[in-house]
Amino acid sequence: MLNEKIYKERIQHWIKRVGDVVYSQPIKLNAEYIYDARNPIPYPEINKHKWQPIKVGEKWADVWGCGWFKFTGKVPSIMKGAFVGAWLDVQGEACLFKDGIPHQGLTNKIDWNLQAGKYFVPLFPISQGNEKIDLLIETGANGLFGEDKKEYKLERADLVVFDQQAYELWMDIRTLFSLWEGLPDNKPRKKKILYGLNQACNLWNDGRDKDACLAITKVLLSLPAQASALTAWSIGHAHIDVAWLWPIRETRRKCARTFSTALRLLEEYPEYVFGASQAQLYQFVKEDYPQLYSEIKEQVKHDKWECQGATWVEMDTNIPSGESLIRQCIYGRRFFKEEFDKEIDFLWLPDCFGYTGSFPQILKKSKIDTFISQKLSWNDTNHFPHHTYLWQGIDGSEVLCHFLPTNDYNFSNLPSSFIESEERYAQADISDDFLNLYGIGDGGGGPSKEHIELGLRQENLEGVPKVKFSPARDFITKIKEIDKEKLPVWEGELYFELHRGTYTTQSLMKKYNRQLELKMQFIEFLSVLTNRNTNDYLRAIWKDILLNQFHDIIPGSSIGWVYDDAHAMSEKNLNKLDLLQHNLISGMLTSDESTNNLIVFNSLSHTRKEVIEFACDKPYQVYDHDDLLPCLYQNGHLYFELTMPPLGYKTIKLIPGKVDSAPLYTSNCNLENGLIKLKLDELGAITSIWDLTRDKEMLESPANSLKLWEDLPNNWGAWDINHFYRETKPQLPTLLERKVVVNNRYKKAIYQRLSIGNSEIKQTISIYRDSTLIKVENTVDWNEKHKMLRVGACPQIKAKNATAEIQFGLVERPTHKNTSWDYAKFEVLAHTFIDVSDNNQGFAILNDCKYGHSVQDNSLEINLLRSPADVHKEADLGTHSFTYAYYPHTNNLENSNVIQQAHALNQKLVLLESDITPQASQISLFSCDNQAIIIQTVKYAESGDDVILRCYESIGSAQLTTLSLPDTYQAAFECNMLEENEAELVIDNYKLKLEFKPFEIKTIKLSKK
Ligand SMILES: [Zn+2]
Repeated sequence: MLNEKIYKERIQHWIKRVGDVVYSQPIKLNAEYIYDARNPIPYPEINKHKWQPIKVGEKWADVWGCGWFKFTGKVPSIMKGAFVGAWLDVQGEACLFKDGIPHQGLTNKIDWNLQAGKYFVPLFPISQGNEKIDLLIETGANGLFGEDKKEYKLERADLVVFDQQAYELWMDIRTLFSLWEGLPDNKPRKKKILYGLNQACNLWNDGRDKDACLAITKVLLSLPAQASALTAWSIGHAHIDVAWLWPIRETRRKCARTFSTALRLLEEYPEYVFGASQAQLYQFVKEDYPQLYSEIKEQVKHDKWECQGATWVEMDTNIPSGESLIRQCIYGRRFFKEEFDKEIDFLWLPDCFGYTGSFPQILKKSKIDTFISQKLSWNDTNHFPHHTYLWQGIDGSEVLCHFLPTNDYNFSNLPSSFIESEERYAQADISDDFLNLYGIGDGGGGPSKEHIELGLRQENLEGVPKVKFSPARDFITKIKEIDKEKLPVWEGELYFELHRGTYTTQSLMKKYNRQLELKMQFIEFLSVLTNRNTNDYLRAIWKDILLNQFHDIIPGSSIGWVYDDAHAMSEKNLNKLDLLQHNLISGMLTSDESTNNLIVFNSLSHTRKEVIEFACDKPYQVYDHDDLLPCLYQNGHLYFELTMPPLGYKTIKLIPGKVDSAPLYTSNCNLENGLIKLKLDELGAITSIWDLTRDKEMLESPANSLKLWEDLPNNWGAWDINHFYRETKPQLPTLLERKVVVNNRYKKAIYQRLSIGNSEIKQTISIYRDSTLIKVENTVDWNEKHKMLRVGACPQIKAKNATAEIQFGLVERPTHKNTSWDYAKFEVLAHTFIDVSDNNQGFAILNDCKYGHSVQDNSLEINLLRSPADVHKEADLGTHSFTYAYYPHTNNLENSNVIQQAHALNQKLVLLESDITPQASQISLFSCDNQAIIIQTVKYAESGDDVILRCYESIGSAQLTTLSLPDTYQAAFECNMLEENEAELVIDNYKLKLEFKPFEIKTIKLSKK
């Protein structure tokens, strides 16, 4: 055809004209509404409100307002015989209710490439005329993506006639036109489609000759797919962010809208299969909409609805601890098993910002062997090379991965996009199959009729992959047939080359998460120590923690409302745990000693020797059993060194008496303790850490050098850091005040106050007896926009890689930029420390609530605070407190005690002053004789009263260890992470001999029977 461009435009105009005919003959409905400016009105309470009349074009709500609408009327007799429905648009999100049950979601504003909003409610497929209309709609004054305008009006409320034949034609020509767009120019098929569409357009005749048009389109759509076409296993999907640009309260209603829509489409289309992930969302529906939940259960039973992913929410996998990731799997899997009798063995995280290298082992041991995602297709530097491959974790465990070649979890089902996906599929050499998740997502919604209609037309169509409606698990079964030897393997972390700011943004949320994880570790241990199974109580708190690990909450990419809710929830849970801790400890105190005592708890699995600093109004002599410990009283504090056994407690007697006391000399304080000597400069930085043992300087350039950098990424402020911040000139602090606050033989500390930008930093820098640890406690009054506060150190150490702690292990971070993959890692994740070492010495930076770091040459840095303003205008403003520490050490990392120091900085000894003591003056419940093996968790089993120990090899080498147990346990089993026994272990003289592979995690169950 000559002039293709002109014909193309003609067809585009025609598609619109045909669309206009599909829903026609509008007749206005009467409308009334009720309203609450802030909170949803529950269905049973609607009649307590007074209904107000409203007309089309009138305002019904300010943003976030909540309401109900009643639409009434009568089908006019001229519509007799027609398919009659309602077209409703309140400019926000809405849900039609029938008999008090959510029946169908209505959603305004879908600016996706398919333009498939949901406004139409089918009422009478063949109207008799004169039927009464009485529709009840719940409404929310927000768009699919939260606040999209300030005021919401009733846009439209009409009865309309639905023309099935016009719809059929409309979908045919949309399918064919998109196919035409996607095909290469030189294909005869392409030429024939445009020619055919133009012929049909010639026959349209203002809609009078639809049959003739359809005769042409049906022929064009009848040509079968090529023999070599791939199969796109396609499942309807709605990515529902548990919170993001809206609060959780709106998510609960988004579930009702999305899931009721899916149920109606399942009724309409027998081929259709829908899936939804996240146990938490099902839990919301179970609580709020029990009848809707029953309908979902029915569809799950018939395999029309698939429960996806084995986790409680689709969580971030960078920030949560290893134990949290395990609980995500335990609680997710348990929910689907108990509620739906489904064993979910695949992980579903299409939208998370990178995936930790410890995950394959956690998945494998939680009976999850496949992982579905796509997010690495967003990388800003390197192209991730595989779609179907084996992912090998840091310990060597492997899971099968499929990254959607559609690069999307909200796929349109448009043929042009299918063609691109098929061409993109990297494993087309060994596989004929890929997965497709289609539907509207992020703010929920799910597929519209149009998604399904497009899919149906492509089940066997020349030019596109074969669309097969299917649950994801059938696709997974199919790709499991591929010979594993043929699959590429990706080893280690799946680093996401984007959204690197999410390691740091909303730092208070990250701190709450760390605090709660540590507190849960302590309480679970304390429960076992005190023989009180508190699991039923703790489970609800765990679920809150897991909820806030959702991939827009903990990464920091949500609106302020979400954090107001999450902070309050975290505070409440910390308070509950404090109270429980008090009750558990009180329950173990039985002996009235009539002296003062200090009961000290250590929930870590290594022996700790630490300086205790205890505030008291008078000096005490300190007795560990009958041994009088050296101590010192200064400035209202008692100082002494205490050795604590692993996973246990000790009672220290405090007896009033003569004690060394020393006045606080504040004029002269050398930060020197016999091992190291520090020098500070007038910018607050540590300019020298002199190693007194080896008589040498450890720093190449200053430590504790605070820098305020410009932080203006091109896009996605809350998510991204662009590398070019480093090309700007940072602001440096000004020292406002410095003074000595502790100065004795156990501890030396100086306090300094610094200003930087519009912010103020208060720091206490402390060193302790017999330790090279330099602790820096900070309170920052943070008042910046688009700035980032970083601090680091530059030791005299040359190494090719630094080492960062991640969940249950370590990962190397390049100190160089040899390749584009190294270059892209200009901001990296670490949990409690990052270390650079050679064979003889090393230097670590530890932290108590931070995650973002950078490594370049021998410089290590922590990203302390950010201040983006795009999603939440006041993100991170306010007061922050956090601690980091520098830890110069001898030996390489493996032979140092960096890990133990980092864990001790986080999990502090718990001190309780009491005149009543436990029966035994000291207990160490469990211990092991190899420092590399860490007992991370001691807890009651999820069912019953057995005890679970979670142990892991922490440095990446094979190890043997002997675990010592109390005499109460008669049997021991090695379990998977779901706590199912796998092998019985031999307890010999209260000891278990265990062999660990590098970074292996073992779950040991101990039984009293
Ligand atoms: Zn998401």
